Amino acid sequence: ADRFITPQSSPSEDVLDRAVRPKTLADYEGQPRVREQMEIFIEAARKRGESLDHTLIFGPPGLGKTTLANIIANEMGGAIKTTSGPVLEKAGDVAAMLTSLEPGDILFIDEIHRLSPNVEEILYPAMEDYQLDIMIGEGPAARSIKIELPPFTLVGATTRAGLLTSPLRDRFGIVQRLEFYGVEDLAHIVERSARLSGGSIAADGALEVARRARGTPRIANRLLRRARDYAEVKGNGEIDKRTADLALNMLSVDERGFDHMDRRLLLAMIEKFGGGPVGVDNLAAAISEERDTIEDVLEPYLIQQGYIMRTPRGRIVTDHAYLHFGLEAPERSL
Ligand code: ADP
Repeated sequence: ADRFITPQSSPSEDVLDRAVRPKTLADYEGQPRVREQMEIFIEAARKRGESLDHTLIFGPPGLGKTTLANIIANEMGGAIKTTSGPVLEKAGDVAAMLTSLEPGDILFIDEIHRLSPNVEEILYPAMEDYQLDIMIGEGPAARSIKIELPPFTLVGATTRAGLLTSPLRDRFGIVQRLEFYGVEDLAHIVERSARLSGGSIAADGALEVARRARGTPRIANRLLRRARDYAEVKGNGEIDKRTADLALNMLSVDERGFDHMDRRLLLAMIEKFGGGPVGVDNLAAAISEERDTIEDVLEPYLIQQGYIMRTPRGRIVTDHAYLHFGLEAPERSL
């Protein structure tokens, strides 16, 4: 099925994305608190001629973690080397990355909560003292060697800060949490992307795309591309509110920006579990979805929008969810 809220972007999308991805903090929309702090930290580090403190960025997929990591490198004038937790399997993998760094470079590790323990252990002295401690050889001939590393900045990204081990989390001097974007910010992103890709969009069209983008820039850009296809084939090329509306309805993205997975999740909670409380594993089994996808991708937005609540006994749907489907909310004592 054509899903809009997938965690990762596809390779063909990456190409399109590169054209619209902001390269400076000034072009980074929304997230005012993050932007203000990063401006200060970056400027201070630059004035002292030091590398920026290690930075942890967390937030749901598509909110701009990779983008921010690239902006940090750009603003600091360093190169960025990108990898991810699951890719760094062995201690040697991370040692190779670390020894390839130049002074002031950024090492970006996506999904940093998925590092193996032995890789994490290599990172601790690297982050703290710019030192690499590795064991070479085996058995009685084994010995440890120390290698000096240039000053660098580790930027880690994760969907949930709670997934990191505390020794790793403690080694980040800067921790930034990205929030879902407001409709106005998303509308700006959509207008900018339309402009950069040579398309035309009316203000009310941009707002409509923004309203349905689940608070997420990646989804906003995705919906924009589909609305543009629709406008070019069925209209005169311009995306106004009506074309955006028709295009997004055709894609089963509803007026709240929920796609069929969101609706399945909410309906399962209502129909199969009496509105909850239900545990995430039962829910995952009921809708044949990975537990991680529910926790990282589906649930955060539904919680933020007030459709689901977490209680100590499990998730429950709120009255908003019943209303969304035209159902009457049951009398409940919580
Ligand atoms: P994440 O790494 O959190 O999954 P990305 O950084 O890949 O998300 O962001 C997805 C896309 O959304 C980017 O390629 C970029 O085009 C757009 N985007 C993200 N954050 C912003 C922002 N603050 N302003 C403008 N566009 C953004």
